[in-house]
Amino acid sequence: MDLDLTDRHALVCGASQGIGRACAIELAQLGASVTVSARHADALRQLVHELPRANAAQRHGFLVCDAADTDSLRRAVDELVTERPVHILVNNTGGPPPGPVHGAQIEAFLAAYRAHLVANHVLAETVIPGMQAAGFGRIVNIISTSVKEPIAGLGVSNTTRWAVASWAKTLATELAPFGITVNNVLPGSTNTQRIKQIVATRAEKSGASVADAQRAMEAEVPARRFAEPAEIGAAVAFLASPAAAYITGVNLPVDGGRTRSL
Ligand code: NAD
Repeated sequence: MDLDLTDRHALVCGASQGIGRACAIELAQLGASVTVSARHADALRQLVHELPRANAAQRHGFLVCDAADTDSLRRAVDELVTERPVHILVNNTGGPPPGPVHGAQIEAFLAAYRAHLVANHVLAETVIPGMQAAGFGRIVNIISTSVKEPIAGLGVSNTTRWAVASWAKTLATELAPFGITVNNVLPGSTNTQRIKQIVATRAEKSGASVADAQRAMEAEVPARRFAEPAEIGAAVAFLASPAAAYITGVNLPVDGGRTRSL
């Protein structure tokens, strides 16, 4: 199986912690040069030092940008691709705040669409010409299992993820002739800051302790545990590899079996 990403350049967004950070590490382990992106330079600079180097050609770097600021995002990624084309794009950022959809403010929808759907689109549009020129491209979007089964208490998030999944499926169809694949990875509950926030919200609502709220969530997973970020990163790295060339337009749950639908 060909998993070699030597001479490929990956841009991983939301990479300063959690799932994005794990994706950057896995891609670097397969030989890619990785540009990690998020809002704070210090965390990114540190990560660049820590990323694996599997071959002499690897040149890791970082890009400071805010997914919520569309114009500056476009400018920053424009500059990056002028310097060196991006062959692998991992679209990822922080999840929208939890809460029911009934009563959600219009601003919350607009903010979530901007940071997810619009940011993904701007990033993809900027990197696609380089992918076309290379005859190789991988776009992997980190979304959520809520694409298949909406999750209670994540109203704005559920709605936004579905929009991203539909955008990705459409794009996958358009880009397949160019050797570019577009896929979504749907993490189940994964041990990061994001899941800590969700567990804390559940505990507060139910009156249970944080430990009990987490145990209840873990009991809903057939694997009886949360995922480690590296397990999500491994799925992303596989989809980015030459071996996954014929997989496009899919929603891949990495959730320990939690999603019950087919
Ligand atoms: P996280 O909050 O731990 O990390 C989010 C990353 O995005 C960080 O690097 C953060 O700095 C960056 N970020 C946040 N806002 C940004 C902005 N405006 N511009 C640029 N970067 C920004 O989250 P995570 O757990 O790693 O999750 C990543 C994605 O996967 C999120 O969309 C999350 O909702 C989704 N997800 C997570 C889980 C889980 O259990 N952790 C489950 C399903 C889906």
